[in-house]
Amino acid sequence: MSVRPYRDILRRKSRQIMVGKVPVGGDAPITVQTMTNTLTADAAATIDQIRRAEEAGVDIIRVSCPDEDSTKALKSIVQAARVPVVADIHFHYKRAIEAAEAGAACLRINPGNIGSADRVREVVKAAKDHGCSMRIGVNAGSLEKDLLEKYGEPCPDAMVESALDHARILEDHDFREFKISVKASDVFLAVAAYQGLADACEYPLHIGITEAGALRTGTVKSSIGLGSLLWAGVGDTLRVSLSAEPEEEVRAGFEILKALGLRHRGVNIVSCPSCARQQFDVIRTVEALEKRVAHITTPMTVSVIGCVVNGPGEARETDIGFTGGGNGTHQVYVAGVPHHRLKDAGIVEHLAEMIEKKAAEIEAAKAAAGDAGAPRHAAE
Ligand code: SF4
Repeated sequence: MSVRPYRDILRRKSRQIMVGKVPVGGDAPITVQTMTNTLTADAAATIDQIRRAEEAGVDIIRVSCPDEDSTKALKSIVQAARVPVVADIHFHYKRAIEAAEAGAACLRINPGNIGSADRVREVVKAAKDHGCSMRIGVNAGSLEKDLLEKYGEPCPDAMVESALDHARILEDHDFREFKISVKASDVFLAVAAYQGLADACEYPLHIGITEAGALRTGTVKSSIGLGSLLWAGVGDTLRVSLSAEPEEEVRAGFEILKALGLRHRGVNIVSCPSCARQQFDVIRTVEALEKRVAHITTPMTVSVIGCVVNGPGEARETDIGFTGGGNGTHQVYVAGVPHHRLKDAGIVEHLAEMIEKKAAEIEAAKAAAGDAGAPRHAAE
């Protein structure tokens, strides 16, 4: 029995597949993906972009392979990447085979678009030979003509039917190492399609709201769509699709998972919106602190609150707390209890150093416990 049952999320039971060394589905952590937008043929630029996504914490990265130059470059990209690489193939079966040979961990391809059964057989054989999984990716904007005629417009049932049709082709070739996505830019359509698919099969689901928009609007849209699915236990891996740099997609993905308590990575800063009662500049302090501690990956919660109205209460739930006090004398809390006072100057640096020290302690404790025990407030 959970201490706080209102926070429990019961995950849908899905079968587990491997994307390279990263498990997807079953009880594996929900993974965060993004996609490069450099020319894949330009391996150096692509690897550079992958590095930035890796630093932001990406678990799996996807790279488009529209031509032979791309699949040629893929080999060095795969070797340089620290995370598994998914090759995005539109429909050309030869690119899929080349990508598998180049070491892609997963092929994003719809078997129904490949063409003849022989070609499907060849792609499945290449995937099996090279230990690749696959992703079937249905998109509301590119549904098959016969389904559009049958249903009149893109709708959840049409998307689920399309996904299951593609799945059946792979099952007929005795291949079950795949995940499925049914994306739409419309939140209602995407969520309903994923719910339908979640009920109709046991395959792991890659969730996303496609073409969600720019950084702010896309993050809000994705948070609503992915948030409601994840809260209902649906989704094994995700991508937040933004018209923004890949690392921004990764950060947004982690924030969604963190808000639901599904993953914990880095410093979670709880801060107040500030008002006339604030005893220091909350907005500027939090902005600077967030940047200053962005390099820390250890899960930790820190509260930065403008005054005593909510400061002590929030600090009680955090690893490190900070509350603005009168006459420029503020209160610092450690593990929920008052620890020491701080005069105005150097709030950001003072807190950052405390956070770094705490992160080092948590990591040392984890190492000593062989990762078995996790400190309070900081469990992954
Ligand atoms: S905690 Fe204090 S400063 Fe912050 S919003 Fe509330 S009353 Fe205002």
